[in-house]
Amino acid sequence: MNCYLYPEPSLFFFTYDLPGLLYYSHIPTTIVALLVGFFVFLNARHLLLNRLLLLIAVCFSSYTFISLIAWTNVHGDLILFLWPLFGILQAFISIFSIYFIYVFLTKEDVKNKIKLVFIALLTPVLLLAHTDLNVSGFNITYCDSFGYEGVPFKIYYTSLGVLAMIWILWLLVTHHKTAENNFKKQIVLMGTGIEFFLFSFFTTSFISTYLAGIGVLHNSSLEFYGMLGMMVFMMFIGILMVRFKTFHVGMVSSQALAIALIVLVGSQFTFADNTTSVVLTSITLIIVGVFSILLIRSVRKEIKQREQIEHLAGSLEKANARLKALDKQKSEFVSIASHQLRSPITAIRGYASLLLEGSYGDMPEKAMEPLDRIEESSKLMALAIEDYLNVSRIESGNMKYNLSDFNLRNEVEHVCDDLRGEALKQGLVLLFRTDLNSAGVVNADIGKTVQAVQNLILNSIKYTKKGTIKVIVRDIIVRKRIYVDIIDTGIGMNQETLNTIFQKFERAENANTANVHGTGLGLFVSLSMIQAMGGTITAHSEGDGKGSRFTLELPLAM
Ligand code: ADP
Repeated sequence: MNCYLYPEPSLFFFTYDLPGLLYYSHIPTTIVALLVGFFVFLNARHLLLNRLLLLIAVCFSSYTFISLIAWTNVHGDLILFLWPLFGILQAFISIFSIYFIYVFLTKEDVKNKIKLVFIALLTPVLLLAHTDLNVSGFNITYCDSFGYEGVPFKIYYTSLGVLAMIWILWLLVTHHKTAENNFKKQIVLMGTGIEFFLFSFFTTSFISTYLAGIGVLHNSSLEFYGMLGMMVFMMFIGILMVRFKTFHVGMVSSQALAIALIVLVGSQFTFADNTTSVVLTSITLIIVGVFSILLIRSVRKEIKQREQIEHLAGSLEKANARLKALDKQKSEFVSIASHQLRSPITAIRGYASLLLEGSYGDMPEKAMEPLDRIEESSKLMALAIEDYLNVSRIESGNMKYNLSDFNLRNEVEHVCDDLRGEALKQGLVLLFRTDLNSAGVVNADIGKTVQAVQNLILNSIKYTKKGTIKVIVRDIIVRKRIYVDIIDTGIGMNQETLNTIFQKFERAENANTANVHGTGLGLFVSLSMIQAMGGTITAHSEGDGKGSRFTLELPLAM
C-alpha cells in the first residue's frame, strides 16, 4: 500500500515536496534534546533527575523520528504501524515531565502512591493505542501521510498533557513559596522551560491534527512550531546546568557540550536544502553560539571571583589567627604589667592619704593641693588598673565567681547611699526607689554584682552635668527576673554609640568632652560579669543630650 503519486524511494526517507520547516523543526531539536539528555545522564547517571531528563529527551526524539518518517515515507503499512506511537509517546512525555519536576523540587523519588497514579494514567493509552479506537485507517490519497485518529483517544492523551501542565504549575507554585532565594530562581527557570515546551508541543499538535482532520488545514505542519519548544526548554536546562549546577555537571563538561551543540547545529546546513531551513539554521546557530559563550563567560567570571574570595578568606583566617595570638599576648602583657603597677600605686595612694591626714606631721599649706592631686590621680589609676586586670581575667577565662543568695535590693540601696555624696558634689540628686513583688533575692557573686551596679551609677554621675539620677529596683515574677534601672538626665547617646559601648575600649565622642577619665572598659567588664551570672545589661537613650537608661537584669532566686 504505497502512495501512488511518487516513485518508490531509494532511501529510507522520502524527500520530495516537503514543507520547508520539516527538517529544521525535527532534526536540530532532536539533536539538541538527545545531546543534552545523554550528556546530563552520562555525567551523573546516579541522579534520578538526570535519568528522567534523558527519558523525556528520548521520548521526544522518538516522537520526532516517527513524525519524520510519517512525513517523508510512502509505505502506508509502516506509517499505520507507527502512527499509534504518537499518542503513547505524548502520554509518556506528560508523565515523565511531572515525575521530573517532582524530583527536581523535592530532590527525592516520588511516593509509590503517585507512581501508581502515573501507571493508571498511562494504562489506557498503552492498551488502546493499537486498536481502532485510536487509528482506524490511513489516508494515502494525497500522500499526506495522515492517519484517521479516534477523537476520544486523542482527547485523552492531549488531556494528559494539559494535566501535566496544571500539575507541574501547582507543584512549582507551592514549592516556590517556601524555597530559599537561589532555588526560587531555579524554579522559575525550570518552570518557564518545561511549561513552554509542554504548552507548545501539546497545543500545536492537537490543534494541527484537529484542524487537518476537519479539513481546515491541508496538513498538520503547524506542529513543527510546537517542536521548537524543546529548544527553549533545553536552553533553560543549559542555564540551570551551568549557572546553578542543577544536574551536577562540571564546568569543563558544560563547555564540551556547548561546543558539541554548535558543531551539531552547524552540521544542519547539510540537510538544509531550501532557503527557510538555511536561514533558520543560521539563526539557531547564532543564538546557540552567543548564548553558550555568554553563559560560559559569566560562569568563568563567577568561578574566578569565588577563587579570589576563597583566597581572601584563607588570608583573613590566617590574619585572624595571628590577631588572636597577638590579643592573647597583649592580655598577658597587660595582666603582668597591671599586677606590677598595682602594688606601687596602692603604696602611693596610701602614703598620699596618710600625708593628707597628717600622720607624718603637719604639711605646709602649699603641699596640700599637690598631695590632693596625687591621691585623686592614683585613685583613678588604681581603678583603671583594676579594669585592665578584669579584662584580662575575663578573656583568659580566669574570672572566678563565688555564687551565693543575697538581697539585691539592699545591696543597690547601699551603693546608692555610698555614692550619693559623690553625686551631690556635682550638684546631682541620686534617688533610690523600689517596685518589688518579691524579696529581691538573687543567686550571684555579690562583689561582682555590686561592682557592676556601682559602675553603672558612677557612669551616670560621670556623664550627667545637671539633673537627677534615678535608681529603681523592680521585678517581674512570672519571668523570674529582677531589674535595676539607672536613669539619668545626662549627655545621652545616639544609635551609633549605643551599638558599640559594650565593646572593649569603646567610648562615645561626647564622652571625652563630658569626662576625660575613662578607659572604655567598664561596661565591657560589667556586662561580661553579669552575663556570666545569667543576666544582662541593656542601654537605651533617645539620642545625644536626652539622658540614658541602663538596665541590669538578673534571674530571681525563688
Ligand atoms: P568609660 O566610662 O570608662 O569610658 P564605659 O565602658 O563605662 O567606659 O562606658 C563606655 C562609654 O559608654 C562611655 O565612654 C560613654 O560614651 C558611654 N556611656 C556609659 N554610660 C553612659 C551614660 N550614663 N550616659 C551617656 N553615655 C554613657
